[in-house]
Amino acid sequence: MAARYRIALIAHDEKKDEMVAFASAHRAWLATCSLVATGTTGKLILEACPELKLKRLKSGPLGGDQQIGALISEGKIDAMVFFVDPLTPMPHDVDVKALMRLAIVYDIPMALNHATGEILLAHREAGHDGNRGTE
Ligand code: PGA
Repeated sequence: MAARYRIALIAHDEKKDEMVAFASAHRAWLATCSLVATGTTGKLILEACPELKLKRLKSGPLGGDQQIGALISEGKIDAMVFFVDPLTPMPHDVDVKALMRLAIVYDIPMALNHATGEILLAHREAGHDGNRGTE
């Protein structure tokens, strides 16, 4: 069986509707992937797209961002799409920074807004496999 591409999906509260629309628009291709998401983001995506293979972790402010960072450090995430809200102070800002830092350290594709998320998925959907996608 072909390797499933492993994507982490996260959205801050003000960006969750946008993330659900994004996941819905790409649901056919995302159904071929293994997805992980922070708790609330994952819940909303699964309500809209119940067919997706998505594992929900803890909510971001309760450790979900750190869980995704740990998965990245273990080589278990191929790309991250994180719709960040830059206009709202976050209690877990340090976790968000740590997660972004690990995505850079391990050099995985990281889309931090919708426009870049579209480019990342379009690239993969067009069959550009890069050197990752190993589950
Ligand atoms: P959530 O976490 O999906 O559980 O809301 C996202 C975040 O704020 O990091």
